[in-house]
Amino acid sequence: MKAKKVPAWISAPLAIGAFAALVWWERRRPLRRAVEPKLRRNLRNLAVAGLGAAAHQLAAAPILAPLTRTVERRRWGLLRRLRLPAWIEIPLALALLDYTLYVWHVLAHRTPFLWRFHRVHHVDLDLDASTALRFHFGELSLSVAWNAGEVLLLGITPLELSIRQTLLLISILFHHSDIELPMNVERRLVRWVVTPRMHGIHHSIAEEEANSNWSSGLTVWDRLHKTLRLDIPQEEITIGIPTYRDPREVTLPKIVVMPFGEQRPTWKLPAVS
Ligand SMILES: [Zn+2]
Repeated sequence: MKAKKVPAWISAPLAIGAFAALVWWERRRPLRRAVEPKLRRNLRNLAVAGLGAAAHQLAAAPILAPLTRTVERRRWGLLRRLRLPAWIEIPLALALLDYTLYVWHVLAHRTPFLWRFHRVHHVDLDLDASTALRFHFGELSLSVAWNAGEVLLLGITPLELSIRQTLLLISILFHHSDIELPMNVERRLVRWVVTPRMHGIHHSIAEEEANSNWSSGLTVWDRLHKTLRLDIPQEEITIGIPTYRDPREVTLPKIVVMPFGEQRPTWKLPAVS
């Protein structure tokens, strides 16, 4: 019998260790100039993350785990039909899940209903490892329905889903982080995986820059769709969305209720004198 899933004693220390290492690195070699005090933002983002983790757990536990077990047992979905050896199937499952996440991310921006929730992630005035955890509980709950579709359609097993979730968490912590990697290292990495400078462009207040770099793991999806942009130096990027530039508008209570209130147009810059 093969291993059922990545145990928590491996995934939890890996994620916590990655977060701690990145926060340490951000203090030594920050990539961008901060707008808000780091401690205040990190605590706020961790509070949003706590709410999100609780909601995701509530929504995912009764749906995704039983669904992956059923899919495995009954051989539902693409990969279960193909009956490939594990050394091909597992990497293929991870790549396909990475692509469907690209699609979900595009939808999160392009669908007004989903954007209500995803904009909570984007109104952060700075970008660092804590932003990677700052997803509104509504977005995380909705994403469970998308994940259920992926599991059913692709035929994802409990082991594949758990490897994906562990790797994805480490990947998003890394590419949201505010660490200044040497340029040659960044250039080499970005051929394969999303890097901090690449994802910084996606968090720009400029609409045409934000509408690029949708990948969350491998960069190949942005290359295939011609949505990759690496031509904006970080010093030229303002992080956030144009209609929320004041730290008093993005406090914890305001961002928690943000999806449920009236929505400001996103890309209109406020009049500046
Ligand atoms: Zn986004």
